[in-house]
Amino acid sequence: MSTFLELGLREEISKALTDLGYENPTVIQEKAIPQVIASSQDLKAFAQTGTGKTAAFSLPILEQIDENSKETQAIILSPTRELAVQIGKNIQEFAKYLKGVKVTTVYGGANIDEQIRSLKKGSQIVVGTPGRTVDLIKRRALKLGSIRWVVLDEADEMLNMGFKDELDKVLDATPVEKQTLLFSATFPREVESIARNYMDNPIEITSGEKNKGSDDVSHEFYVVNERTRYEALKRIADVNTDIYAIVFCRTRRETQEVANNLIKDGYSADALHGDLSQGQRDGVMDKFRKKSIQILVATDVAARGLDVTELTHVINHKLPDQIENYTHRSGRTGRAGKKGISVVLVNGKEKGKLRSIERIIKKKFVQANVPSGKEICQNQLMHLIDKVQNVEVNTKQIEEFLPSIYDKLEGLDREELIQKFVSLEFNNFLAYYENAKDLNDLSSSRGDRESRDSGGRGRPRDENMTRFFINLGRKDDLNPARLIGLINDQRITDNIEIGAIDILDTFSFFELDKNFEGQTLSAFEENDPEFNGRGVNIEITKKERSGGGRGRGGERGGRRSSSSRSSDGGGFGRKRNDSGSSPRRSSSSDRKPRAGGDRPDRGSADKQSGGFGRRRRER
Ligand code: AMP
Repeated sequence: MSTFLELGLREEISKALTDLGYENPTVIQEKAIPQVIASSQDLKAFAQTGTGKTAAFSLPILEQIDENSKETQAIILSPTRELAVQIGKNIQEFAKYLKGVKVTTVYGGANIDEQIRSLKKGSQIVVGTPGRTVDLIKRRALKLGSIRWVVLDEADEMLNMGFKDELDKVLDATPVEKQTLLFSATFPREVESIARNYMDNPIEITSGEKNKGSDDVSHEFYVVNERTRYEALKRIADVNTDIYAIVFCRTRRETQEVANNLIKDGYSADALHGDLSQGQRDGVMDKFRKKSIQILVATDVAARGLDVTELTHVINHKLPDQIENYTHRSGRTGRAGKKGISVVLVNGKEKGKLRSIERIIKKKFVQANVPSGKEICQNQLMHLIDKVQNVEVNTKQIEEFLPSIYDKLEGLDREELIQKFVSLEFNNFLAYYENAKDLNDLSSSRGDRESRDSGGRGRPRDENMTRFFINLGRKDDLNPARLIGLINDQRITDNIEIGAIDILDTFSFFELDKNFEGQTLSAFEENDPEFNGRGVNIEITKKERSGGGRGRGGERGGRRSSSSRSSDGGGFGRKRNDSGSSPRRSSSSDRKPRAGGDRPDRGSADKQSGGFGRRRRER
């Protein structure tokens, strides 16, 4: 692996990258940077989202830019204002130690006079959305006669959004002699046609298979129905105690509704879509980046430029209309070397789309079960206990209050005290989930009706499968993809069929072809594998089917297991949930829906140009 200096970048740039925490170039950077520095040949680069493509095109430009000239030498076009702003910000950070370099970002929905003033001062690099860029060219505020580089970022998306004319106009305003760089995460036919029309014998580089999803993302689906879709979303949020996620919706109305419901139910959530003003959108994005909201509910277009490296989940509340957009969505997680999970909620009818997506991303979806109330309570409780274990006690600040507190609690023994404080924090959750139903839409999933009751975890959903318990869970960083990897590593037999997987906090279940039951047990025993430094144990779960939901699901191998905590009905809950709304404390419920019609979000400019179906135009 090379260093940034070895790729041909100067000390000042390398230092700025070190400040940003970039230790080594990513694959696409390793390929693009020396190429663009050494040659002025046009370049088509296919990079998965989150692979560092912004730096891949901007660093070699910065390396070669003439700081002494104030002419605009590079124009970077991006489909959305959020993405443009993000790119502009990134370039400014990369150019931190290049004192003479100025970057201006231009986009619709913001004061054009300010942008004109900034351009007049002289910017070597201009980042813009197509509509506003054309506008500024017409007003003669942006002159492209000295352009040396044109970058088309996410060109497929620019075409999708109806910017073909604008692209023509911008490219027409540039000199013939220039280098055109086309960076895109997906590679539909339209991108080929851009390359044909605008590029001269481009060299092609890729940081992986075209359109393929990131290797750091695992893909899960949950089968739900329309009545349970939102409830399932809440359960996924509840079981993942540290969730930091984008929930994708198809339309602005759906986005606003889901966000309003989550807010009303006490989740730390907000909406991002094209009906919001630029100021509102900036505010929401800022809060999300700072993690003062955990769940961002967004349309595809609105979330496009959002660069957050630590998302735990991307949740497809509804699949996108164009399945190619799934790659963009799931690429929001698993960025910069971090692992992420892309979750899809599908009803029976939508399930077919998953196969087409699998062909595009070249990965398999793993079916997951909507968590049961007990699993959620267990996870939340353990999370609470972890927090108690780790909280720092500031004796100095609390000592003056302690004697009277000790006095008051004197009559309680240790157990009572623990029970009371857990109840205080937790009664809402316990009550809410006490009689929680199984939300998996079993009518459309593998014909398994038996696991409708809460005892379903103890046995396989398919009689050709054997259900195994494994002593690893989320706490060990286990996810479906890693579990499949672990199973495959045992070389039980070629292509063994793997069925449903349930990952819980501290343990999990998986199903394997019944014919290899014995071989599976002996393979794990002989190999004695370790996972994240932990010894791995598997056992066959108890198979007989007994009636009733309560007090029976969690036995495996003849002894009472910890799984009974998650599957028997008589665990935590005592009170009925009277509120019927949410286990989370409600924060602000007074926000009103801001959405307009129920239509796919094609950017805020739709509204200005007369609505759905019309060409997108930024002003
Ligand atoms: P991009 O594909 O340009 O949207 O980048 C995805 C994320 O990876 C951004 O948060 C970048 O800041 C980060 N990133 C890009 N290049 C590197 C690198 N060489 N090392 C670490 N992080 C990087």
